Amino acid sequence: MPEGIEVDPEFGNPYNDIGAYLIEQGKHDEAIPWLERALRAARYESYHFPWFNLGRAYAAKDCYGRALECFRSHSRSSRSTPGERGPARRAPEDPLTPGEPPVANAFDVIIIGAGTGGYPAAIRAAQLGLKVAVVERQKTLGGTCLNWGCIPTKALLEHAHALKIAQASKEWGLILGDQPARIDMNQVQSRKDKIVTVLTRGVEFLFKKNGITWIRAVPACGPGTVEVTGDETQTLSAKEIVVATGSYARSVPGVEIDRTRIITSDEAIGMRTVPSSIAVLGSGPIGVEFATAFKRFGSDVTVIELLPHLVPLEDETISLELEKSFKKQGIAFHTSTTVTTAGRSRTASRSTRRWPTGRTGPSRPSTSWWRRAAAP
Ligand SMILES: Cc1cc2nc3c(=O)[nH]c(=O)nc-3n(C[C@H](O)[C@H](O)[C@H](O)COP(=O)(O)OP(=O)(O)OC[C@H]3O[C@@H](n4cnc5c(N)ncnc54)[C@H](O)[C@@H]3O)c2cc1C
Repeated sequence: MPEGIEVDPEFGNPYNDIGAYLIEQGKHDEAIPWLERALRAARYESYHFPWFNLGRAYAAKDCYGRALECFRSHSRSSRSTPGERGPARRAPEDPLTPGEPPVANAFDVIIIGAGTGGYPAAIRAAQLGLKVAVVERQKTLGGTCLNWGCIPTKALLEHAHALKIAQASKEWGLILGDQPARIDMNQVQSRKDKIVTVLTRGVEFLFKKNGITWIRAVPACGPGTVEVTGDETQTLSAKEIVVATGSYARSVPGVEIDRTRIITSDEAIGMRTVPSSIAVLGSGPIGVEFATAFKRFGSDVTVIELLPHLVPLEDETISLELEKSFKKQGIAFHTSTTVTTAGRSRTASRSTRRWPTGRTGPSRPSTSWWRRAAAP
């Protein structure tokens, strides 16, 4: 903060005030980065003061083209009603304009993880005028929800629903071929991937639009610093570090995930064949979604739940309705049942479960198991 100026961050746009102060001092080069920052922060306020001051700064530096652009933006934004989003918030690009001396790798905020927690936080911080970097190790942004969670599972359910309608084509008045409708999992996967790509690219676009730096790497945090190891190792510094690394799939004692037969939802979401039979461990929303979709696709599905009802965290009325619906769909389920072991034979994975009476016995062979449980 330049000496001799006091700003009240609760009032107005302090970056604009600093820029204006520096112009009065004749420090036009120093004023420009503050005014650019003022434009980024001006989302909920009027834009015209920062545009006007930026125009003054450019004019003083004999950059008349850019000054003119700023004055035009100023006059456009001063005509817009208060609170309305004004014209583009980016100041005109000028590689020759001296800006704030760049402090290599110094950020106001570094966010680790670009999932549903991390990416909105990054965008908001940038909109408020902060210099933001996001460290994300995956090759796409959006985390679990966009890449292998909420969105892809809903795509799978859409396919299951489409198949249901096609299988009842006569009732629905659809004229299809003579063959009964079946599912092509390769096509399911490619449509799902397209949906995911549109959304993750959307987040990338928002990052670019808001000037957020994405570093694709794995970080190691120290006090105020983050060391990132990607293509090269570098040390970043930040006033604030936000850890938004989400959750990962974990197993239960006695069940070792081999990611081929004994799998988690992360693998299940990418399956290109329909297994003949599946046992699903856990009947939370995720287990129930997969059970429903794969039953429709043609698998023989069994759900095993430790607690007395399906979707045990929901209201009991909902659980009872779901249990009725599962019976109708032919999805087998065992509640109050603990899975104690799971392993694979040559042709299938096998499990042992314990009934509430304490009796144990083998469950039916299954080609796949999965469970996704959040582990911090
Ligand atoms: C199959 C499935 C279906 C779901 N369906 C729904 C639904 O319908 N509705 C709903 O509300 N929720 C659903 N969820 C839950 C939802 O996806 C999560 O609650 C949400 O994604 C959590 O967001 P997050 O940002 O905390 O974590 P995440 O989305 O997991 O993001 C964390 C990010 O951090 C990155 N990361 C982790 N460690 C590091 C590291 N060391 N270095 C760099 N980056 C790292 C990860 O790569 C990841 O991108 C579902 C989850 C699953 C698995």
